[in-house]
Amino acid sequence: MIVDAHTHVGSRDHFSPRFVAEMVRAWGEMNWPQDDLAAHREAMRQVDRAIVVAMDAPAVGMVVPDRYVSEYVASQPGKLIGFASVDPNRPDALERLTFAVSELGLRGLKVGPIYQHFDPTSPQAIALFRHAEKLGLPVLCHQGTTFVSDAPLRWARPFLIDDVARACPDLRLFIAHLGHPWCEETMAVIRKHPNLYADVSALHTRPVQLYMALRSAIEYRVTGKLLFGSDFPFATPSGTADALRTVNDSVGTDWPPIPQEVIEGIIRRPALQVLGLED
Ligand SMILES: [Zn+2]
Repeated sequence: MIVDAHTHVGSRDHFSPRFVAEMVRAWGEMNWPQDDLAAHREAMRQVDRAIVVAMDAPAVGMVVPDRYVSEYVASQPGKLIGFASVDPNRPDALERLTFAVSELGLRGLKVGPIYQHFDPTSPQAIALFRHAEKLGLPVLCHQGTTFVSDAPLRWARPFLIDDVARACPDLRLFIAHLGHPWCEETMAVIRKHPNLYADVSALHTRPVQLYMALRSAIEYRVTGKLLFGSDFPFATPSGTADALRTVNDSVGTDWPPIPQEVIEGIIRRPALQVLGLED
């Protein structure tokens, strides 16, 4: 069984013109499918289950509503699991999360401090994390860099999640993209806390960084805490699995190879069990 723990949907009108312009500047094109739901459905044929996230980030012009994700995942109930997204700056943040779970059937929380303009160690952020912990919801947290210019990197560092885990020890949280480029910080923080994990998504275009991060994960003995994810539509599950399986060849180093059993362990990790999402 293969689980893609990190995928996106969103129609093009969920993004502001400025956000789209930045995407074009970074990637050379609008790196987003015209028909997002059809493209997602097709790409997810490559996996058994997938987590689909909303994105409530008005600060950078990216708002994919919880209801949109809820309606889409309901079209493939045995396959897709939806995560709500709540901006902790909203005065009704906790109520929104409760509503997303009880009324929309969403089963986790996605946040991106740099996209939502909040300090993950601030009182209102910790209140939201505590609420997720109380509701038993796993959290996907975007730590790491971005192409978006108005996204403060001082809130991107993976080590900030240490304070979150100390405040919410029972919260299951995974850091997106191994917290790139601060992957070693991610290894340090997930090693400290039993309920912290990280996903390997969106590193397929940076094989040297991926190789170095996996070496670091081996040395810190945390490869068992790495989850498979694609960050679709920025990558597909099969493209991500290929990048992992060929990482040693891509870097062409005499340094120790990443063992195939480590790579297959990541690809086949039972992420739903790890995150408490088994049906
Ligand atoms: Zn993502």
